[in-house]
Order: sequence, then structure tokens, then C-alpha cells
Amino acid sequence: MSRTVYVNGEYVAEEDAKVSVFDRGFLFADGIYEVSSVLDGKLIDNPGHMARLERSLNELKMARPCSNDELLAIQKELIKRNNVTEGVVYMQVTRGAADRDFNFPKDATPSLVMFTQEKNILANPAADKGISIVTLPDIRWQRRDIKTVQLLASSLAKQTAKEMGVDDAWLVEDGMITEGTSNNAFIVTEDGTIITRGLSNSILHGITRKAVLKVANELGLTLVERSFTPEEAYDAVEAFSTSASSFVMPIIKIDDHILGNGVPGPVSQKLRAAYIAEAKANAE
Ligand code: PMP
Repeated sequence: MSRTVYVNGEYVAEEDAKVSVFDRGFLFADGIYEVSSVLDGKLIDNPGHMARLERSLNELKMARPCSNDELLAIQKELIKRNNVTEGVVYMQVTRGAADRDFNFPKDATPSLVMFTQEKNILANPAADKGISIVTLPDIRWQRRDIKTVQLLASSLAKQTAKEMGVDDAWLVEDGMITEGTSNNAFIVTEDGTIITRGLSNSILHGITRKAVLKVANELGLTLVERSFTPEEAYDAVEAFSTSASSFVMPIIKIDDHILGNGVPGPVSQKLRAAYIAEAKANAE
């Protein structure tokens, strides 16, 4: 069934949706995006995604396509028109269309595209079983804090993981895990301490990461924000990743190392449940 998508002011059937071949998102990856999940037809953690979109725009000196209220209205309209009860809303802003030139165009109008994807987020078999990952070199650029559409390095890593017969990859730079291909990385040590890398330009400042840290704090769990090595991850009793589209995803194997009993651990499960409860309570 054809979806209704939003392109620069219009709601159109997906097969009729068009952007210019001169769009700078297409030519230079000069664009940013956000993904908000939807549960029971409501948006999860959406203010955080709006705030990060604004930050990405500012960091790239990109004009806003419209106000946050208008963005929210479009998100809601797409959820309604496509009858989405569970899934995600994707929004992308690019610097717009202009004749190809490395310098920013003076008069381009930012381009705004949004669409929905239906997806089982809660009843996800991967979350029940836990996933296997590999570690791979982080070959991305140095401003990973900006959520740009230049996702080729992540796409290559995810594809390599798939060809190796596993579900995802954690990326390694200077001997330390940065983050997952499309998620933030966490480990849990023997004494129950939750460790995740601190915020810097080396990782995306995950909205789910922030919410999970808040939930962990409320549960009285011990948290440390610091970099960790693949070897520490191998020795961890639990590991998990966080993202808007997978919430808390338990990891049961990293490279050749099975963690704990090879099933999702209690801390990961507790955090997943607590995050979902809190997210649902605050959905809009
Ligand atoms: N890191 C990277 C590289 C990502 O692409 C994502 C999700 N897009 C995340 C972390 C998780 O961020 P969030 O929780 O805001 O989805």
C-alpha cells in the first residue's frame, strides 16, 4: 500500500514524491535528519529530537524550513494519514537545491522531507533473544555529534556485520568503542556498573541514551560515563545499545565473546521495560 509522504509543503503519494537532482542533500550529503518513534500512534521523546534537529541546523548554519510547531503538525498529520500505530517518523532537512558548488548557495530554500515507516518496536524478537555484534574500525568523520545524512560509513559497517552473519557493529577508534552504527553503546560490569562513553564530537548525543541514563538513575543503578575498550566489553556481564527505533537492545555476543549466559541480562531487561513505561507515559 502506498504511503502518503511530505515533500516541501505537500502531502503526496510516495511514488509521486520528488526532489531536485540539484538538492544538496543528494550531491553533498548536506542535510540532517531525525527519527522519532511512534507507539500507540503517539510520538516518543519528540521534544529531544526537535532540540537536536535545531542544534544540527545551527552547527551547519542551515536555515530552518519551518517552526517546531509546524514540524510537529506535519509529523502528526503523517501518523494520522498513514494510520501508524507503531513505527517511526523520519524527517530530513537539506540546504536545498542550487547549481553544484562547494560553497553554500546564497538563496537556496531548505528542503523538508518527512515520511513514516511501520515497524514492530515493542514486540521485537531481537530484543527478546538479544543480538550479536562485531567490532569494526570507526572510519566516520569527526563531527558525529551532528546528525547528518552522510551515513555511508555506518551503512558499510552494518553491511559488513550482516555479511559476517551478525546483527550490528560497534565502532572502534584509538582502541576505544565510540558507538554502534546507528545506536549508542553500553556495557554492564560484574559489580552492576553501567558504562557508556561520555558526550563529545565523537558520538551522536542519543536522545534514547539520555532518557535511559535518566531511568537508570531513577532506578538507583550506578552509572559511569567514560570510554571503554573492546576488551572491557568482552569481559562485561551485559551489553546493550540504545536508539529511537530499537529503544534498549540487549547484546549477547561481541566478536567471539558470549556475554553472561548468552541471554539478555537483568539490567538490560529492566532498563528496556522502565524506558518503555516512561516513554509511553510522556508520549505526545
Ligand atoms: N548513534 C548513531 C550513530 C545513530 O545513528 C543513532 C540513531 N540514529 C544513535 C546513536 C541513537 O540516537 P537516538 O537515541 O537519538 O536515536
